[in-house]
Amino acid sequence: MRQFFESGKTRSYAFRREQLIKLKNAVRKFEEPLHEALYADLKKSPEECWVTETGFLQAELSNAIKNLKRWMQPELVPTNLLNIPSSSRVMKEPLGVVLIIGPWNYPLMLLLTPLVGAIAAGNCAVIKGSEFAPATASVIRQMMEENFDKEYIFFQDGDGATEIPAMMNHFSFDHVFYTGSTAVGKIIYRMAAERLVPVTLELGGKSPCVVESDAHIKVAARRIVQTKFSNAGQMCVAPDYVLVHAGIKEKLVAALKEAIGRFYGEQPEESYNYGKIINEKQFSRLIAYLDQGTIVHGGRIDKQRLFIEPTILDNVPLDAPVMQDEIFGPVLPLIPFQTSEEALAVIAKHKNPLAFYVFTSNRRTEKKWLEEVAFGGGCVNNASWHLTNHHLPFGGRGFSGTGHYHGRYSFETFSHKKAVMKTPTWFDPAIKYPPFKGKLKLFKWVIR
Ligand code: NAD
Repeated sequence: MRQFFESGKTRSYAFRREQLIKLKNAVRKFEEPLHEALYADLKKSPEECWVTETGFLQAELSNAIKNLKRWMQPELVPTNLLNIPSSSRVMKEPLGVVLIIGPWNYPLMLLLTPLVGAIAAGNCAVIKGSEFAPATASVIRQMMEENFDKEYIFFQDGDGATEIPAMMNHFSFDHVFYTGSTAVGKIIYRMAAERLVPVTLELGGKSPCVVESDAHIKVAARRIVQTKFSNAGQMCVAPDYVLVHAGIKEKLVAALKEAIGRFYGEQPEESYNYGKIINEKQFSRLIAYLDQGTIVHGGRIDKQRLFIEPTILDNVPLDAPVMQDEIFGPVLPLIPFQTSEEALAVIAKHKNPLAFYVFTSNRRTEKKWLEEVAFGGGCVNNASWHLTNHHLPFGGRGFSGTGHYHGRYSFETFSHKKAVMKTPTWFDPAIKYPPFKGKLKLFKWVIR
């Protein structure tokens, strides 16, 4: 791969564009097997697959194909007084051979969306799919091997704990882009640091959702339910818990129940719209949360089908594990608050959430929340949809990750910004050369 990259083949606009088109056609061609595999791994309907996986990826590809030429142009920037009459530009240079590591919850989209940026920016890439979504990994392997030289894009599957150190400790990647848990993120960061490899870490955490007393309760409930229980709650930007103003808690509970009933019916296990838990390990972890509060809705489980009903918990102690760990499943604790200080104190226990949502109809309240909470990205009167707008950078901060991507930001993540100044030779005043004695006043005027 290193040789392939150094041959310079990946650099031209024509090559990059062709590969993006090839990938787009491949995703189209493999749409059915991909949807079947996503159903096998996570019981996703074709509609859900389209919105969150195949269609999402195609939209990223279309945007990259449309804008690639413009993104690749060197960016002309102004030159300061000291350097006049030079000109200055920022060139976008490919990084080299990059490693992209994906998780199991959106096993196609979270592995190949970063790849769109890597290809657009002219890199070679090793992509590591998650071993916990084996059906999808197997289709991705076939799709990649049918379409790309292994020297250019190499698909690696298998156990991450073995395969990833085997790769990272024996080869200096030029960038590692990791999506997954914070615990594994730390392992990746450590391995990368050994070789001074730059990283993008897309991690998780507890993303709060605040519902203020002046929120439009029915709309808030529908939007929270849609995001929280999509993919059976196994979504990095799902509202982890809801901080609800005590005065409207009962109304919100009623509206949440109504929305759950309307979306998934009386028996969500039979619903076309409701997914399953990925595996037994996650299932066991999640059902332990069910008795850590009062169940006000849901609570039924079926181990055979890896089914956990959309569940709302009330009276949850803040020191219960369900309020300590990232839930990453269909369990939604409600924490009532009287004052925003109380709510902020809960949020502060889990610094830098990946996402933050506030439901309110007051602009001042909205502004206050957005300024007071330090989060990766989020929404006002909505939940999770910010990540579907490729004009917005997607990523966390601190504990929830470092770096961002989507749209142009993906291209930039996989490009080095090379600064270049060009100075004409026809103008070369002696003033800037030694002897300097007596020039201090002039220097002070120019450099200040
Ligand atoms: P996972 O277990 O599939 O792990 C992710 C990747 O890390 C896999 O490819 C796996 O092979 C590899 N891996 C596992 N153990 C490893 C080890 N010891 N050393 C090196 N590599 C290893 O997925 P996960 O971590 O359970 O994913 C869920 C987490 O990911 C949640 O915390 C969620 O919030 C987060 N997430 C974040 C985003 C985001 O965009 N920020 C998106 C999805 C998921």
